[in-house]
Amino acid sequence: MVFVEPPEDWEEETRLVHGGEYRDSETGSIVTPIFVSAIYKYPEGNPYGYKYARNSSPTIEALERKAAAVERAAEAVAFSSGMAAISSAAMALLKPGSKLVTTKDIYGTSYEFFTTFLRSYGIEVDERGVGEGVLERIDKNTDVVFVETISNPLLIVPPVDEIAKACEEVGAKLIVDNTFATPINFLPLKVGAYGVVHSASKYLAGHNDVLGGIFATNDKKFALNLKNVRRMLGGIPDPQQAYFIIRGLKTLHVRVAYQNEAALRIAKFLRDHPKVERVYYPCLEEHPSYPVAKRLLKGCGGVVSFEVRGNGFDAIKVMKKVKVVQRTASLGGVESIITHPATMTHHTVPPEVRKELGIKDNLLRLSVGLENVEDLEADLDQALSSI
Ligand code: PLP
Repeated sequence: MVFVEPPEDWEEETRLVHGGEYRDSETGSIVTPIFVSAIYKYPEGNPYGYKYARNSSPTIEALERKAAAVERAAEAVAFSSGMAAISSAAMALLKPGSKLVTTKDIYGTSYEFFTTFLRSYGIEVDERGVGEGVLERIDKNTDVVFVETISNPLLIVPPVDEIAKACEEVGAKLIVDNTFATPINFLPLKVGAYGVVHSASKYLAGHNDVLGGIFATNDKKFALNLKNVRRMLGGIPDPQQAYFIIRGLKTLHVRVAYQNEAALRIAKFLRDHPKVERVYYPCLEEHPSYPVAKRLLKGCGGVVSFEVRGNGFDAIKVMKKVKVVQRTASLGGVESIITHPATMTHHTVPPEVRKELGIKDNLLRLSVGLENVEDLEADLDQALSSI
């Protein structure tokens, strides 16, 4: 076997560094090579061999094997973006007449895809409520349930274990978007989820320099079906992209451990700041999801949201004043990032829905990177002092 198959007893850190790596005895390579070939010698007698890079290729397979090893899944399927993973998995799982249960506070483009695209193909989408409000809507007509481990931007943690149990009782499949938590803080398949998706563009790759998506599951038959769907829809990453994600994954545990701790410190710093009205971080006792987060998560990740004392213009002013923290919309990378949800990530959400979700105009979302925590606090302090 060319790919490193992690033994059962390897822990997360060892799986991240060595799992799935392509190591051939001929060259003795330690690091997975970027196989740029788009075409492969036709594999006679082996229907699963490489043929054409839209189907698969060795660097993609190395990424899939590493992602599966880390999510403790039998199989993972790699995609060119998180949205390619989510849309392809949804299309592989649902057909006209199927019912999807989800929430309003999922990632905006997932919400848009479910409520516009899927609905237009005759799929019933029930998206009332926020993170916790899923349980009571799961019934025998439900085919798929889609939740995020930590929602955006108010960081609600749904009881994924209870949701998985409810899904099992009615024969529904639970898909968990684990982007914000990462496999370091939570392993959805271990509590009974059917599938896990990631925007690998965030923590998994971790350097704000590549897009990617992952779907992981223990259902080998479905993974094969999903690879077929990917072949038809064309959402495979290119080998260079896959390599960047593989490289990022090798340091995921170190980055996320730092980000868990740094974000908790910054959440406490913001809670005590006179220019801050309210802080949202599920590892703080005052967050409504604290009991669930304490039960399920090893850490709460690098994202902290907070309302400034003032209005939306004050929030924008603070966002424009930061110098170390960068003003943009992503998360999970080495650079700290600040976002104004009402005008950036959630500007397409109608004001009345934002209100219903609790996303106020004075809310800012901070993705804590790998900078020195005191430098970040000083930067936030000087920006907050401007209002
Ligand atoms: N899921 C979550 C929670 C996200 O935050 C994002 C992107 O921001 C996505 C999915 C989509 O991922 P991508 O941008 O890689 O398509």
